[in-house]
Formats: sequence, C-alpha cells, structure tokens
Amino acid sequence: MDDVEPPILGTEPLVVEFANTLYDGGEDFLGTTELATLWFTTAGAHPARDTAAAKALRDSIHTLFAATVTGATPPAAAIMHVNTVARHAPTSPQMVWHSTGALVADSRRGAATGDAALLGSLATACIELLTGGQARLLRRCEGSDCCLFFVQHHPRRRYCHESCAHRDRQARYYRRRTAN
Ligand SMILES: [Zn+2]
Repeated sequence: MDDVEPPILGTEPLVVEFANTLYDGGEDFLGTTELATLWFTTAGAHPARDTAAAKALRDSIHTLFAATVTGATPPAAAIMHVNTVARHAPTSPQMVWHSTGALVADSRRGAATGDAALLGSLATACIELLTGGQARLLRRCEGSDCCLFFVQHHPRRRYCHESCAHRDRQARYYRRRTAN
C-alpha cells in the first residue's frame, strides 16, 4: 500500500474528487475497504463505513458527470440513486460559531450522522453542481491516459493537473522528433 497515491487533485470540489476515484478501465480507488479508507482520509473526510454504498454512489455520480461532459442524456437510474441518497441526509443549514469569530452556515450538520451524512452530503453536492452554474464548466482532462474530471474555472485549462499537461507536451515533442 505504500506506493498507492489516491488521485486527489486538491483543486476540485470534494464530489469531483470523489468521482475521480474511478479511472475508466483502470484502477478503482474505492475498490477495497483499505483503498476507500485511504481515499476518504487523504481527502479529509471521515471514511465511509459501508464501502459498497460509497462505491455505488460514486458510480452513479461518475455516470452523471460523464453524461454531462459529453452532453448525453443521463440515465434515470443514476439520477434516482443520487436523489435517494441525498434525501437520507437532512441538509438544512445550521449555524456554527467558527474559530475565526463568525457564524458560518454548515449544511452538513443535519440530523444524520455517519455514512448517511457523509454520502448524503456528497449526493447533495452532486445535485448542486449538476443543476448549478458549474455544470457547464465540468470537463474531462485531455491528457492521454487520463480521464479525471475538473471544474474549468480558467477558460484555457485543458488538463486536470500540470503533470498531465507536461506529459502531453513531452509526447508531442517525442512524436515530432521521431517523425523527423
Ligand atoms: Zn489529467
């Protein structure tokens, strides 16, 4: 497990990072309880107790994101699944006195706790992202062998991370050299 590094970009909303735990045709970073715990911990969240439920939600969110970036009609089953999980976590805003000396709204402090709150807040974040202004900014990395989602806040951003941009530049350079 020492060489496993979860694909956390650190720049994206947690729900986008959550969707990115599934590499198309590749590794699944929620594939085992061990990996899932590592991911949640690295992402700064409390690990889901029910890895299967977390994985199932991730699959539905991933399906909806993939449909959104291609403009396809999202499958009704995925929509229904995310709606159901979101309903299980009351997310009415709660006031919390923050250490910075201000009241802040914390929508995650509903009555639900544990997995229901965790997965419910991810499902809610998915709904907010896909029905809000960020939906049209959702992109997939253009790097070869990369399929990570990101929210394109900068109009010229094409890669999930600088390392993907670097790899593509190198590949282009190599192709030019071998073509000569
Ligand atoms: Zn990438």
